[in-house]
Amino acid sequence: MEPARRVISFHYTLTDSEGEVIDTSRDSQPFSYMEGTAQIIPGLERALALLSAGDQRKIDVAAKDAYGEHDPELIIQVPREKLPNDGTLAVGDQFQATGPNEEVLMFRVIGINDAEATLDGNHPLAGEALTFDVEVTAIRDATPEELSHGHAHGPGGHHH
Ligand SMILES: [Zn+2]
Repeated sequence: MEPARRVISFHYTLTDSEGEVIDTSRDSQPFSYMEGTAQIIPGLERALALLSAGDQRKIDVAAKDAYGEHDPELIIQVPREKLPNDGTLAVGDQFQATGPNEEVLMFRVIGINDAEATLDGNHPLAGEALTFDVEVTAIRDATPEELSHGHAHGPGGHHH
């Protein structure tokens, strides 16, 4: 028997510490997620868990409860020939690689010279305090199908 979980749907506008809008759901459907599946950042999930359908809130999330603090150990130098697309590698390129603790991370190229590339495995929003303007549009119990898949399904049913 799977534990009971709720599916929470909400609109959000995400801004960084300078008030720049990073992302919003306002031009499409509300975002839906199943509680307890680590689908959204922990600080936001904790705050949303206390709200009811119809509530609007401004939620401030510290970096450690968002995409984590910026980790200098995730900035690494790699010989260019070890990288994919060695010949056309450019600053801003991204690719998956294995990090220091065997985790799969998305690395961005932040510097490059003839011999080496400098890669940053931090999330682009690591170290950022974030603010979410949210409006909870619906809260319901997860369906058996959603519980077995471990994620919420949209209003049209199944979509992966
Ligand atoms: Zn599914």
